[in-house]
Amino acid sequence: MRLTSIPRVDIAHLPTPLEPAPNLSEELGGPEIWIKRDDLTGLALGGNKARKLEFLVADAIQQEATVLMTAGAPQSNHCRQTAAAARKAGMKSVLIFAPYSKHYGSTDPDQAPQGNLLLDKIMGARIEWYHGDWQDRLAFMDQIAADLRDKGERPYVIPGGGSNPVGATAYVNAVYETMNQLRELSLNATHWYTTSSTSGGTHAGLSLGVKLAHAPFTVVGSACDQDATKTKSVVVPLANATAEHIGTDVRISDEEVIVDDNYYLPSYGIPNEGCLEAIEIAARTEGLLLDPVYTGKTMSALIDHVRKGKLTSNDTVIFHHTGGTPALFAQADGIAGSFSEPE
Ligand SMILES: *Cc1c(COP(=O)(O)O)cnc(C)c1O
Repeated sequence: MRLTSIPRVDIAHLPTPLEPAPNLSEELGGPEIWIKRDDLTGLALGGNKARKLEFLVADAIQQEATVLMTAGAPQSNHCRQTAAAARKAGMKSVLIFAPYSKHYGSTDPDQAPQGNLLLDKIMGARIEWYHGDWQDRLAFMDQIAADLRDKGERPYVIPGGGSNPVGATAYVNAVYETMNQLRELSLNATHWYTTSSTSGGTHAGLSLGVKLAHAPFTVVGSACDQDATKTKSVVVPLANATAEHIGTDVRISDEEVIVDDNYYLPSYGIPNEGCLEAIEIAARTEGLLLDPVYTGKTMSALIDHVRKGKLTSNDTVIFHHTGGTPALFAQADGIAGSFSEPE
């Protein structure tokens, strides 16, 4: 296995803290809960994409790139962290956004930007709005890349979410990092709750990492954008492509990956009641800020699993805070009225 020799640039704050959440544990009356703070990776307000970008930017530097290109929703955390990583590496960035998404509704390119989009503008990312069908964006991106090459630039295209074997490798490392922390704390975790998406890099890397490191905990992925079957159809092949990339013969099977798709509806990006309740509980027990797109929904899964007795006081759960908090500000109009009055 060549895991330790794969090129990586040092742009994330690692290791991220693994901190206890005793008030939250007491409030729920169930397992001991610890938070893996990947919202504190640094790189323009943190999040899970910083870990992946350590490997993606190293690859871009090897290819002598001058511009990082990627695409996503206007509130993409991945695009925001890519814009930051580009600047740190002395590069420019081009971000391709859909002005209309069936998930988010429309974002008016002429309105004052909020949340992540505001941060992209501050960092001077070049923003291109793609008005066509989102599935057809690759031809549009190819055209922009060709224009950049004509101007003497060398673009490096990063897939949505930074989720390819190069990026997902970071989450194999994150398992080893956490195993060291557990050892130092003499802690034996039984579960790791993370958000599982159809970009899939985080869950794929974790699934592989757990198997390689013989981690004692089960990874439970809470779906954020598609049902379990669709999510697994991305996560499992990506885990195995990542295994190939890092040079191990270990493979992951479909049965080894757990995705719970009961907590993301009505759709990606739109918070439901459980999500808002989870945001409130985390904030009021631990001063911990979750986001309305990913981690709020995943915490609602954890809370519901405690209420249903799937997690008990015999369990020790790591909750993976993957970041995303800038989206709270972008959704202020929709969510501010949902929280209860102070007691
Ligand atoms: C992108 C993102 C995820 C999902 O990670 P993937 O590796 O793309 O599956 C989860 N949480 C937050 C906050 C994210 O920005």
